[in-house]
Amino acid sequence: MKLLRFGPPQSETPGLLLPDGRRIDASQFGSDYDEAFFAHDGLERLAHWAKNHAGSAPVIDPSVRLGPCIARPSKIVCVGLNYADHAAESGMPIPTEPVLFFKATSAMVGPDDEVIIPRGSLKTDWEVELAIVIGRRASGVCEADALEHVAGYALHNDYSERAWQLERGGQWVKGKSSDTFAPFGPFLATRDEIPNPQNLRLWLSVNGVTRQNSNTAQMVFGVSHLVSYISQFMTLLPGDIISTGTPPGVGLGLKPEPIFLKPGDVVELGIEGLGTQKQTAKAAV
Ligand code: ZN
Repeated sequence: MKLLRFGPPQSETPGLLLPDGRRIDASQFGSDYDEAFFAHDGLERLAHWAKNHAGSAPVIDPSVRLGPCIARPSKIVCVGLNYADHAAESGMPIPTEPVLFFKATSAMVGPDDEVIIPRGSLKTDWEVELAIVIGRRASGVCEADALEHVAGYALHNDYSERAWQLERGGQWVKGKSSDTFAPFGPFLATRDEIPNPQNLRLWLSVNGVTRQNSNTAQMVFGVSHLVSYISQFMTLLPGDIISTGTPPGVGLGLKPEPIFLKPGDVVELGIEGLGTQKQTAKAAV
C-alpha cells in the first residue's frame, strides 16, 4: 500500500496511491496517519477499507498539493555520516557506531513544497535520504526483530544549513530544523512493497545537474541495525521517523568549491520504489 496526504498545509486529508496510479481520497476511512493509527493496526484496517471502498472513493486531481505522507510524529531521528564516501567528503572518519541527531518535526512539508532559505543562511544544502517509519512501539528490540517494528519507507530530503550545523557550536540540530527543511513523501510505501531496503537507487539533482547518485547498499549501518540500535537509547513510537543518512554529493563536499542553494534553484530527488520530489528554493521574506 502507498499512503499519502493531500490538501492545504496543516489541514491535509489522508489518501492512497493505487497501483494504477490514481490518487484517492481515504478520508472516509476515518483516521489520519498518526501515532494512534499506526498503534492500533491502522495499516491492516486501511487495507481492508481499501479493498471494499477504493474503487468508489473520490479521485484526487493530479494538480492538488501533496502534504507530508504521515502526520507529524513524536520525533525525527537522523543518522549522520552513514555512507562511507559521504563521511570522507565531509572530512570525517567512518563512524564505528551510528551518529544520531534530532530534526524538529515542525520542519516537515510536502514533497513538492518550496524550500525556504532561512534568513541569514549562506549554506543551505541538500541530502537525499531513505526514511523509515515506525509501525510498532520499539524499545530495546534486537536486530532480528527490528523489521517487525517498521511500517514502511518514504523519501526524505534532509535539508541542512551547514554553518548553523557545524560552525555555531553545540549540536547539529540547529542546522537541520528550519521550517521546510524536511520534505517528506510523496507516499509511505508499506514494508511489503520494499522487500529489500538495502538495494535501492537514490539520486538528487540541482538545476538538472546530478549531484547525488548512489544506492542504499552503500550504507554503513542498515535499516535493521539502526532500528535496534536507536531503540536501546529511546522508545520509538508508532509513526516516528528515522532518516538513514545521505550518500556523497552534498553541496558542502563539492570540489573545487562547495555549492549552496540560492533562490530559484530547483532540487529534484528520488528513490527507487518511493517516488520523487521537486522543490524550488525561495528566500525567506
Ligand atoms: Zn542527513
